[in-house]
Amino acid sequence: MSNTFDVVIVGGGPAGMAAALTLGRAHRSVLLLDAGQGRNSPAEAVHNFLTRDGTPPSRLRELGRRELSAYPSVQVREESVADVQQGFLLLLSGGGTALARRLLLATGLADDLPGPRGVEALWGRSAFHCPYCHGYECTGKQVAVLGADPPRVRLALQLSRFAGDVALCTDGRPLDPEVRERLEANGVTVRCEAVTRLEATGDRLEEIVFESGPPLARQAAFVVNVPRQRSDLAARLGCAAFPDGCVEVDEFGRTSVPGVYAAGDMARRATVPVPMAAVVAAAASGTVAGAVIDQDLLGEDFDLPDPFARAKG
Ligand SMILES: Cc1cc2nc3c(=O)[nH]c(=O)nc-3n(C[C@H](O)[C@H](O)[C@H](O)COP(=O)(O)OP(=O)(O)OC[C@H]3O[C@@H](n4cnc5c(N)ncnc54)[C@H](O)[C@@H]3O)c2cc1C
Repeated sequence: MSNTFDVVIVGGGPAGMAAALTLGRAHRSVLLLDAGQGRNSPAEAVHNFLTRDGTPPSRLRELGRRELSAYPSVQVREESVADVQQGFLLLLSGGGTALARRLLLATGLADDLPGPRGVEALWGRSAFHCPYCHGYECTGKQVAVLGADPPRVRLALQLSRFAGDVALCTDGRPLDPEVRERLEANGVTVRCEAVTRLEATGDRLEEIVFESGPPLARQAAFVVNVPRQRSDLAARLGCAAFPDGCVEVDEFGRTSVPGVYAAGDMARRATVPVPMAAVVAAAASGTVAGAVIDQDLLGEDFDLPDPFARAKG
C-alpha cells in the first residue's frame, strides 16, 4: 500500500476527525495518525455539544472513528508522529514513514496543573477549569474558585449566579478590600489562607485544607490550569506562534508555513485572545481546514486561482 497521501492529519480528536470526514467525502487520500491522549479524556462527559451533550469523551471518539470507516480513502492509525520534515515526510513512532502533499496539525493542548496537592486525581471529575464545560453541573453545589487574579474573581461572580455557595480561595494572596466587599455583597466567601491540599474520596472533592483555619467543605473546585502544546511538530516546522504557545492561523486554518494547516485547541487567529477551547469549536475548525485543503489541492491539480487568497496588506 502506498505511503503517499493527499493529506496527513496528525491528531485524532474532534478537530482532526472532522477534517478527515470532510476530506474523505471529497475523495482525498487521508492518513490520520493519533496518539490517543485527548485533552478532555479525564472528564466523565462532553458537555455543551448540541446533540452529544453528556456523551463520554471516549464514546465520542468511537462514534467519530465509526463514521470515518465508511470512507475508503481515509486510513486511521493509532500511532504517534515523532518528527516531520518539509515536503512533507513524517517519521512515525513505530519506525515507518508517510509522505503528504498537505499537512494538518490537530495535536491539541495538554494541561499542567500547578496545584494544590491532590488536584491531578480530581481533574475533569470535580476539579475543573471551564464554566461552560462544567459550570452547569455545579448548580446548587458548594464550589470553590482558586486564585486571586481578576479573571478568578470574575469566575467566582459568574458561578455565584447558580452555584449553591461559592468561595474564592486566594491561596495566601491578599485581596483588594473593595474587591472583597464586592464578592461578599454577592454571597461569595473569601478565604485568604494558603491552601495545602484537596481532600477527596476517589475523584470526588470533599474539602479544601488550609495551612491555618478550618477546612472548607466543597463539592467542586475551579483550579488554575496552564495549557501547553501537546506536540512540538508545529515548532519543528517553524510555524509562527503566539507568546501563549498557540499556533497562529488565519480564518481558513493556514499557518505561516505553506502547505501546513492547524485546527482545534492548538491554534487560534490573532483576533481571538484565547483559544475557544470546546469540542464543537475544534470540530468546526477541522471542517473548515479540511475544505480549504481540498480547494488548495484542487487549485494545484487544475491550475486554478486560490479562492482563499490572502488579502493583500
Ligand atoms: C478536563 C477537561 C474537560 C473538558 N470538557 C469539555 C466539555 O465538556 N465540552 C467541550 O466542548 N470541551 C471540553 N473540553 C475542551 C476539549 O477537550 C477541547 O476543546 C478539545 O478536545 C479540542 O479538540 P482537539 O481535536 O483540538 O484536541 P484533542 O481532543 O486534545 O486531540 C488531540 C489529539 O492529538 C493527538 N496527538 C498529539 N500529538 C500527536 C502526535 N505527535 N502524533 C499523533 N497524535 C498526536 C493527541 O494524542 C490527541 O488524541 C475539556 C477540556 C478539559 C481539559
